[in-house]
Amino acid sequence: MASNGDRFAHLAQPIRVGAVTLRNRIVMGSMHTGLEGHQTEAAFDQLARFYAERARGGVGLIVTGGFAPNEAGRLKDEPATMQTGEHVRLHRRIADAVHADGGLIVLQLLHAGRYGYHDKVVAPSPIRSPINKYTPAELSDAAIEETIADYVKAARLARGAGYDGVEVMGSEGYLISQFLAPRTNRRTDRWGGPLENRARLPLAVVAGIRSALGPAFLILYRHSVLDLVEGGLPWDETVWVAGEVALAGADVISTGFGWHEAKVPTIAGVVPQAAFAEHIRRLKAAVSVPVTASNRINSPAVAERLIASGICDLVSMARPLLADAEFASKAFAGNAKRVTTCIACNQACLDHYFEDRPISCLVNPRAAREAEFRPLPVTRKKRIAVVGAGVAGLVCAIEAARRGHEVVVFEAEASIGGQMTLAARIPGKADYAEVVRAYAAQLAGLGVRIHLGRRATAPQLMADGFHEIVIATGVRPRALDLPGADDPRVVSYDAALSGAAGVGTCVAIIGAGGIGHDVALYLAHPDPAEATDPARFAHRWGVGGAPSPAPAPRQVILLKRSPGPFGRSLGKSTGWILRQELRDLGVQQLAGVTYHEIDEAGLHLTAEGQRQCIAFDTLVVCAGQVPNRSLADELFAAGLGVHVIGGAKFAVELDAKRAIEDGTALGCAI
Ligand code: NAP
Ligand code: SF4
Repeated sequence: MASNGDRFAHLAQPIRVGAVTLRNRIVMGSMHTGLEGHQTEAAFDQLARFYAERARGGVGLIVTGGFAPNEAGRLKDEPATMQTGEHVRLHRRIADAVHADGGLIVLQLLHAGRYGYHDKVVAPSPIRSPINKYTPAELSDAAIEETIADYVKAARLARGAGYDGVEVMGSEGYLISQFLAPRTNRRTDRWGGPLENRARLPLAVVAGIRSALGPAFLILYRHSVLDLVEGGLPWDETVWVAGEVALAGADVISTGFGWHEAKVPTIAGVVPQAAFAEHIRRLKAAVSVPVTASNRINSPAVAERLIASGICDLVSMARPLLADAEFASKAFAGNAKRVTTCIACNQACLDHYFEDRPISCLVNPRAAREAEFRPLPVTRKKRIAVVGAGVAGLVCAIEAARRGHEVVVFEAEASIGGQMTLAARIPGKADYAEVVRAYAAQLAGLGVRIHLGRRATAPQLMADGFHEIVIATGVRPRALDLPGADDPRVVSYDAALSGAAGVGTCVAIIGAGGIGHDVALYLAHPDPAEATDPARFAHRWGVGGAPSPAPAPRQVILLKRSPGPFGRSLGKSTGWILRQELRDLGVQQLAGVTYHEIDEAGLHLTAEGQRQCIAFDTLVVCAGQVPNRSLADELFAAGLGVHVIGGAKFAVELDAKRAIEDGTALGCAI
């Protein structure tokens, strides 16, 4: 039974912002879904389902993904703009659906400026961004005035579509940031030079919207609290802009951290929870309107702490609301332990967006695919055995039990979570264990029994007369097929990570996929607490100073047979961080190698045509996985039709995303 203290009294408190009262302090922050550019009824119906489910889940306010006020401001070469009556007609589906479910929603107006990935990009000055191949055209004085008018028109259309307001995107390095910062604004006219000139555009946008739409229309302004780039805004200017934006008519200052081209992680798992709280507190002290905290806030407890300690008035979470649409309702009903935690992996959200794929969520594949995964109540209750309590088995059990089946889970190990629990040991991945904790709490709430330390056997499963058997027995590490591979200094990655095998100070790693990179980081990292301590994180990454990486405690070399750069398979939005960390820690890399044998002297291989021997005291094998499917084969041989999911079905490049999607799909269908 949850106590009242678990119900997050500060977070749950309604708040007046402008002319509107929000039912609680949770804001679903803006997140591009990839559907914004599809100007079809089907896409907007999907967006409507997605946001309505979050409104039903009790969030106080929703901010949509970014829509540009004009063609030049688009993020990509697609029509995600708010400019016409047709746009109003499509958007009405979203606003109506959210209102029908008791929510409030504002449209985010985002002009990408030089971050637009198309050939019509514009900016205050014609300076190309290091993360874009397109050089922007310099906006003329008249074009800037037209841009301001376009913002105002877009806000008017947003109101016509039924939105409760707009959020003006002024952070992350988009057009407004580009006007504000000397880094990108080299103009000498009334839009450049002194801060009053550089701030003229955002202030005119906010004032223009307020004057055109009156006091009842909500205006949020997303402000870049830290630019984290050279030539960004100093603190006194940041505070001045926030104050002026509020005076111009913004009801709320939302916060953002780091331009997209910044070399400091701001949303990845290596960023501690609420890492930027101190900066938010300082900003809030300087402005008169409510301030929303953001960045790496993913649990009701952290959000509650931020509000209770007066650091902010509202808390914005985007990815955590993908991970669990019921984040708010679970928290306020005393079921916070059942909130599925966003692990900041970006694998199915941001990385999908960058790959032009519709976004979803690794830990919740239903996100933005609500029509595809529909856990309908069952008409015939079945007894179902799920063998294996890795994430595939766990989510399958959850979905099946939620629909009304009686589910029993068997796990040979003493604890659940499988590879996900192992991954939680990697610096920056501690939240992976939180997901396992959430799945366990959900199963307990559904009354699912989990038999730990019990290896299910074919005769027992057959004797128990289950209606359905799900084999989710996962993978095992691929063994090395080399002379000398039975050397006791050769260990598999799971033994190295779990502590089952000791690891020396001179380490060679065979295999440089995702796991090889992760293991290299685990073994070379001098300070795993960096990902939990904002001060240590700031010191390491140079937030407010020069970066200061500490030396590695071990000498590590990462090896791969394939030629070419390392880490190509890593996610676009997080891979650069891992690659940089390994570089900073002095992890050596050798590509294009042919392994020969292992003996007392070390690992013999050929690289760049030269035969050489790599000495080691531990060699960790990260050479992929093979399916663990002997039980499935035994049951098939006995003539039983069983379901095989996750790594047990197909181990090649198995990751948690595929395992969870597999389990969810079967759990919704079985
Ligand atoms: P993986 O990406 O397939 O990498 C395993 C690597 O081992 C292969 O790329 C291969 O590289 C090498 N290898 C394969 N067979 C070998 C053999 N017989 N002898 C020597 N080397 C061999 O698999 P993984 O690293 O185990 O990761 C599994 C999945 O989890 C992947 O989908 C991965 O993307 C994902 N994951 C991602 C992350 C991340 O993004 N940070 C972290 C963990 C896991 P060469 O042929 O080049 O030697
Ligand atoms: Fe969070 Fe990963 Fe889901 Fe994105 S894909 S919302 S980062 S858990």
